[in-house]
Amino acid sequence: MHHFIFKNRELYCEGCKAKDLAKEYGTPLYVYSRRTLTEHFDKIKKAFRSIKPVICYSVKANSNLTLLKLIVAAGGGLDIVSGGELYRAKKVKCPPERIVYASVGKTDLEIQEAISYGILMFNVESTPELHNINRIASRLNKKVRVALRFNPDVKPKTHSYIITGKKETKFGMDSETLKNIFLEQYNYPNIKLAGIHMHIGSQISQAGPFIKAIGKVKKIITQLRQKGIIISYLNIGGGLGIVYNKEKPQTAGEFANKVLPLLKGLDLKVLLEPGRFIAGNSGIFLTKVIYVKNTPVKKFFIVDGAMNDLLRPSLYGAYHDVVTVNKNLKSKTQNQKLADVVGPICESGDFLAKDRSLEAKQGDYLAVMGAGAYGFSMSSNYNSRRRPAEVLVDGKTSYIVRRRESYQDLTGNEVILKKL
Ligand SMILES: *Cc1c(COP(=O)(O)O)cnc(C)c1O
Repeated sequence: MHHFIFKNRELYCEGCKAKDLAKEYGTPLYVYSRRTLTEHFDKIKKAFRSIKPVICYSVKANSNLTLLKLIVAAGGGLDIVSGGELYRAKKVKCPPERIVYASVGKTDLEIQEAISYGILMFNVESTPELHNINRIASRLNKKVRVALRFNPDVKPKTHSYIITGKKETKFGMDSETLKNIFLEQYNYPNIKLAGIHMHIGSQISQAGPFIKAIGKVKKIITQLRQKGIIISYLNIGGGLGIVYNKEKPQTAGEFANKVLPLLKGLDLKVLLEPGRFIAGNSGIFLTKVIYVKNTPVKKFFIVDGAMNDLLRPSLYGAYHDVVTVNKNLKSKTQNQKLADVVGPICESGDFLAKDRSLEAKQGDYLAVMGAGAYGFSMSSNYNSRRRPAEVLVDGKTSYIVRRRESYQDLTGNEVILKKL
């Protein structure tokens, strides 16, 4: 599954001891496993090999340039959601024909930059956006490929913040709007309407909602084709869940076995946009216990990592397994108070884990597992904390892939007004 394992009670990332990495690079620290990342990419590639899809890794899950480069080198494309992510894609020389661009609020500049780079297609989320892309393409004298994002109105079992395929959400279009656009595509002379896109949410562990959504999309494709409309691409998005706690998510193979029969005979070029599935278990977050604070009701491990570094627990109440890098076998003593792992930030929401039976002492290193996706990419400088360093492990070797921010980085863009 992944390459963060205990050997002789010591946590390793591939061939490197987590404790040594923490000492060498300091904490808080993100550590990524190259092998885990590429193996997860390969799992999807293999599962869908019979249809050779374009696998566009979702950059927002973890946008570190080295990770992007590894995915592009493995044959992957990139799913971007902003001009900044396009900039990253260019930096790692991702071929434009492997880039797809979704977002409900693409600005003129972002659209123009993406057209100029010649991306494979825009995933368009509304009629006004389509008009705008047509207008900008016309100005640039280009014809650009577009897939319309379908909102299939399905409700996967996941946190409400990461459901994107219910009709009450801001994403995509209902089937009537979508079909009408296809039928009236002469209104958009600089757009080549080529396909349908959907992305129903994230951390989805069952195939059910995907199957339901694909069923709905198939119906639309059939109806449109009967009217002579050409549809060549189907993008089924990302959203595959991973194990954080006790989830039993479908494997890539199980997912493919359910989805592939549905796509048979449709003669469509298929695109996938996995993010979390590839990056999630490829990273951990290392942090050091600064103090152990006992109160009459609780124990707190106060650590040097915080919600600004890893927001998921605060934002979604997300569960991440937390372990000491030196496994303590007698961690479950009787009458032990449950412990919270908390950061130094002035918010009660600043926690990494709650109510755990965990033993550690001042100076120990803790590993927050499954922190590779939506970890660093959601980090901020709140409380004027410098964002952590990121390290990539490849076998017995480790490389810094983002240096820790300095105090200078914190204030570099600010201006002290002299006249006030
Ligand atoms: C976030 C996102 C993804 C990736 O979702 P995961 O759950 O990380 O696989 C894919 N497509 C779109 C459009 C997204 O916004």
